[in-house]
Amino acid sequence: MTIQQNITQIQTQINYYLDQANRPQSAVKLLAVSKTKPVDAILAAYQAGQIAFGENYVQEGIDKISYFQQQHIELEWHFIGPLQSNKTRLVAEHFDWMQTLDRIKIADRLNEQRPYYKAPLNILIQINISDENSKSGIVPSEMLTLAKHIQNLPHLRLRGLMAIPAPTDDIQQQEQAFNAMNALFIELQQSFPDAQIDTLSMGMTDDMASAIQCGSTMVRIGTAIFGARNYHK
Ligand SMILES: *Cc1c(COP(=O)(O)O)cnc(C)c1O
Repeated sequence: MTIQQNITQIQTQINYYLDQANRPQSAVKLLAVSKTKPVDAILAAYQAGQIAFGENYVQEGIDKISYFQQQHIELEWHFIGPLQSNKTRLVAEHFDWMQTLDRIKIADRLNEQRPYYKAPLNILIQINISDENSKSGIVPSEMLTLAKHIQNLPHLRLRGLMAIPAPTDDIQQQEQAFNAMNALFIELQQSFPDAQIDTLSMGMTDDMASAIQCGSTMVRIGTAIFGARNYHK
């Protein structure tokens, strides 16, 4: 299947799962995760109507962003990988969203480094919801402290939460993590009623159905759009 056909199929699946969950058809946004994939693949997805793309590696992401700027093709870029503090400037200057915020220090640097002529950088707080082996994401009890801090930074705009649960084929375990995320998301919305907290980023190729069932508003899909990744170039 072509990238275009894959995107059409995923949109159909998203709508089907939304329907199953009695949620409205437009409630989930598709983020195409293009890490390791060439600009041709991104262009094919764009021609199929895809606008939002996720990248995990700063330099690879910046190269692609520059390429499409030169082509005068306007896309929306989400940083979804782990971020070291010495690379925050590149994310602040080039991306539209930062989905993996889990430290006050990184928030402060992104706020300082976001160019004044750009819209505030959209921020998701990454929660470590179930993966004991992962160092990424904060524990749920730290969510409100970090959120309050971000709310006071004028060049950042807190939009919600993101999680990468420990991979499992067990649907009940998937739903347990995603339901816990949805509860935190509601708590965040209720704690900041005047903020635009509208994004719960969860669900990938293998657990998209559970994520949508449990309230995801953004699924991050790589393999099902672009095919398997080859890390050994
Ligand atoms: C790679 C990646 C994805 C996409 O995963 P697939 O299983 O290929 O759909 C989603 N989110 C994050 C944070 C990733 O690193």
